[in-house]
Amino acid sequence: MTDEANPFESLQEQVDDAAAYLDVREDVLDRLKHPERVLETNLTVDMDDGSIGRFTAFRSQFNGDRGPYKGGIRYHPGVTRDEVKALSGWMVYKCATVGIPYGGGKGGIVIDPSEHSAGELERVTRSFAKELRPLVGEDKDIPAPDVNTGQREMNWIKDTYETLEDKTEPGVVTGKAIESGGSEGRVEATGRSTMLAAREVFDYLDRDISEATVAVQGYGNAGWIAAKLVDELGADVVAVSDSSGAIHRADGFDPVAVKDFKRETGSVSGYEDADEEFTNEDLLTMDVDLLIPAALENAIDEELARDVQADIIVEAANGPLTPDADDVLTESDVWIVPDILANAGGVTVSYFEWVQNRQRFYWSEERVNDELETIIVDAFDRMTDAHESFDTPNLRTACYVNAIQRVVDAYMDSGNWP
Ligand code: NAD
Repeated sequence: MTDEANPFESLQEQVDDAAAYLDVREDVLDRLKHPERVLETNLTVDMDDGSIGRFTAFRSQFNGDRGPYKGGIRYHPGVTRDEVKALSGWMVYKCATVGIPYGGGKGGIVIDPSEHSAGELERVTRSFAKELRPLVGEDKDIPAPDVNTGQREMNWIKDTYETLEDKTEPGVVTGKAIESGGSEGRVEATGRSTMLAAREVFDYLDRDISEATVAVQGYGNAGWIAAKLVDELGADVVAVSDSSGAIHRADGFDPVAVKDFKRETGSVSGYEDADEEFTNEDLLTMDVDLLIPAALENAIDEELARDVQADIIVEAANGPLTPDADDVLTESDVWIVPDILANAGGVTVSYFEWVQNRQRFYWSEERVNDELETIIVDAFDRMTDAHESFDTPNLRTACYVNAIQRVVDAYMDSGNWP
């Protein structure tokens, strides 16, 4: 990952690029480039050794014009205020892209979870949930998992909130375990929308995905599920990576076997069936048909973009390309399906989970997957329609054109208060 681009500035640039195609007043646009509020808090938590740990945490509520704020909570030592602000803004445009009734939010704690026991992580999470309590709720702001958080953390947040509020409200967070009110299909949802976006773009370009070679950067929740599902479409996943490094196999990996190996050993490096081990940079510049960045933002900067050989990029990660890299790749005619569509499966099935929580009526996995497919395919078609009718330089700008129009319409319909 490079540290060249400030993700918040990247977001603002993306909004400006798309707004150029729309008739939006400058003052209306300005509010779409800044969060409505950001909580910054320092959590003080008892450590196992008797000391007190201090952890900086953020929650950004970017825009609520289309519904309650919605977005994940990330645990990572590199979390910054600007990163959280950017991620919350991308959530606004992601929810608008797929037409689900949410605004955007995001949270993060500056912490390396690998250095803490489960007990310490639980106390950190519950402490953050206490700080979040006045800001969240099923009609206010609904957190979800992101990097290094999952069902366990969501269950802790839900339990803390419900205990303090003295009521049952499973819809206060999504991404919960099934027994705690989670949805079937949620764990796979981000990788599934990545696969659907890949399938649709190959179809749009009259190419056969079953003939494709694929490289996947990042082998966590989003990356490994995307790898498994494109493999099921017949594609060859020839390279995968995680923070430990990358592995290559010309005949394609069995994604499930690689995942089992990573589960046992903690990384993909050392996987015995690989032809060779190489670096993440090598993986990102491989000659493949499809590249799926599924790690963190800014994975590809302008310099690296010049060496990218993939024909198609489907962004499972949020913000994996810097704006300069995006320009280089657009000029090189690389087709990029942007994050706000490709990884929107996560928030879409979170939305299904929230609907089910509110109705206390739970769907089958088949229904979840069918409804997800309908939403992603529809959003993909709206994106390609906008690309053709506005003649946008790339699919990202087309997506933002649609999304910004939806948010602006919601704001203009409601007006300001007071
Ligand atoms: P995760 O923690 O499960 O996995 C992240 C993976 O990336 C790990 O395998 C890690 O080793 C790898 N990684 C980290 N730094 C790397 C580097 N420099 N090079 C290569 N690999 C690296 O996280 P996740 O939930 O899969 O999220 C990945 C991306 O997808 C993030 O950008 C996240 O915001 C986005 N996303 C996730 C969801 C979701 O539902 N999980 C939804 C939408 C977007």
